[in-house]
Amino acid sequence: MQVSTTVFASRIQRFRLPRVCVAVVGEDASNIIERAESLVRDNPFMEFRLDYLAQPAVALPKLKHFLDLHPEATVIATCRRVVNGGKFKGSAAAQLDILTKAAVTGFQLVDIELQSAEILKSGELAELKDRVGVILSFHDFKATKRLEETFAAMKQYPADFYKVVSTATSLYDNVQMMKFLQAHSAQHEMVGLCMGEQGIISRVLGVRAGSVFTFAAATRGEETAPGQVTASELRDTYRIEMVDAATQVYGVAGDPVAHSMSPIMMNSAFRRETVNAVFLALHAKTMKDLMACVSDIPIRGLSITMPYKQDIVGSLSNSDALTKQVGACNTVVRSQDAKLYGFNTDVAGVVVPLEQRMTLQGAKILVVGAGGVARAAVFGLKNKGAEVFIVNRTPEKGQALAKQTKAKFLKRTDLAKMSFDVIINATPLGMGSNRQSPLEDKELNAKFLFDLVYVPAETKLMKMARAKNIQVIPGLEMFVQQGARQFEIWSGKPAPVAEMSFVVSKALERLAAGTVEVEEEAPIPKAKPRTEEKPAPKAPAKPTARPAAKKPVKTAAKKPAKKAAKKLAKR
Ligand code: NAP
Repeated sequence: MQVSTTVFASRIQRFRLPRVCVAVVGEDASNIIERAESLVRDNPFMEFRLDYLAQPAVALPKLKHFLDLHPEATVIATCRRVVNGGKFKGSAAAQLDILTKAAVTGFQLVDIELQSAEILKSGELAELKDRVGVILSFHDFKATKRLEETFAAMKQYPADFYKVVSTATSLYDNVQMMKFLQAHSAQHEMVGLCMGEQGIISRVLGVRAGSVFTFAAATRGEETAPGQVTASELRDTYRIEMVDAATQVYGVAGDPVAHSMSPIMMNSAFRRETVNAVFLALHAKTMKDLMACVSDIPIRGLSITMPYKQDIVGSLSNSDALTKQVGACNTVVRSQDAKLYGFNTDVAGVVVPLEQRMTLQGAKILVVGAGGVARAAVFGLKNKGAEVFIVNRTPEKGQALAKQTKAKFLKRTDLAKMSFDVIINATPLGMGSNRQSPLEDKELNAKFLFDLVYVPAETKLMKMARAKNIQVIPGLEMFVQQGARQFEIWSGKPAPVAEMSFVVSKALERLAAGTVEVEEEAPIPKAKPRTEEKPAPKAPAKPTARPAAKKPVKTAAKKPAKKAAKKLAKR
């Protein structure tokens, strides 16, 4: 089939289009117009989902009013059929009729699926294209596969843009999508992305690979596709309008990781220090997938979080002394020759906030817990000459760590009669929706409490400590310090610690205010009933933004969560 040149070409050339198209849905035309009016100033590129309307054709005259009033806006009319993942129940012919009317109404672009094009009579799509810019689209709601085969079929039909949307079931699917875009964007106007939580890489970096634009939700809760992020996130957090071939890519890798606060913090730091870099959440379900993605994107640096802090060590060409000592790595640098170098900034995340308040040499410090972060804490504090005590739910693990680090293991029953300079909570108790405290009131005898939990900003344990006039160091400080050190390792610049602390504090406030929901980083492991453990009751959480200090250092990521998005449809 012949691809024709249209009078609309000059109106839809790629350089005229913003990189972000915002999907607008509504129950009726007034609803869509109301939303569009509130969005158009910041989002001059929109897609109206006509298939969400009971009678799309009837709504067009009303929508025309908006289009006439806003010549600055470029608007796509989409009326996706049910069989292709939309809500329009009519035939392909009926869909064509509505899109043709949309063209007359003043929409600059219409979206029609490959499957509809295949049903239409010869020449009908070309006729539509003579009236309006056509986006020929294909959506795979299950996987990312047969991209070339699909595109070969699409190229048989005339279109101004070829849009291929798949679903990422691995990080590597993003790589496949970006390679696909790179292969065709010189010859064709391409739009491509992967849906799903694992598709964030393609949503941000797809434009760098050749996608003319990408899609975003107007706000949280208005997503029209799985994994869709908001336009403001794409622009403000990921700075999508600035992403280019020189943009360095960093990310936090873990499972789960979708709601990590690291992207907010690190992207703010990059922007503040004018580093041309973007930081993404990389949901890696396997190390193999992560490594394949890292080598192909290529990613310049990684923040490693659970459960890969130990596993990553085997993939490193070399590492710093702390990584070797602790046996865990939370920071990776990828060199030009693709070798990976590991650092541990979790240690500094614990040590720096304490050193800003006291001399650690000789300080008496209790670490509650014997997991990954406790390990970093104990090694770091012992290196500084502190007298370290460990208590743990599973005594054997606490004893093993104590033996390895020359710390002292304590029985839980001894705690009530002891006092410390610092008590550090290195368990997940108090995190997310968990409202427990790892210690009872009578066991809380110290000058300082350092609760490494930072979501929520105020835990039950912290409240208990404040009630006893114990000075509280919030987990936010560890998070910021470990991130600051990572920033310095990656960029070679001093980290903007105050800015990093501020943005995370604000994000924690939004969590507490209920703007977004808290999602735990990982389920808190159930304990086999142990004599050492005493559960605690519940307490409400509230945010206290307590900024951090000045040094650099590291830690793992947390996961705040988004509001459960109502999935209105799929793109
Ligand atoms: P981990 O390796 O899973 O270790 C968890 C430790 O907590 C283990 O010692 C475990 O005891 C103990 N524990 C778990 N559930 C418990 C319960 N119900 N009662 C008593 N003890 C329990 O986790 P991790 O990586 O060390 O992280 C621990 C917490 O530190 C995280 O949940 C997070 O809140 C916080 N953290 C904060 C930052 C930051 O930047 N602020 C960074 C990383 C982590 P057993 O040995 O008996 O299993």
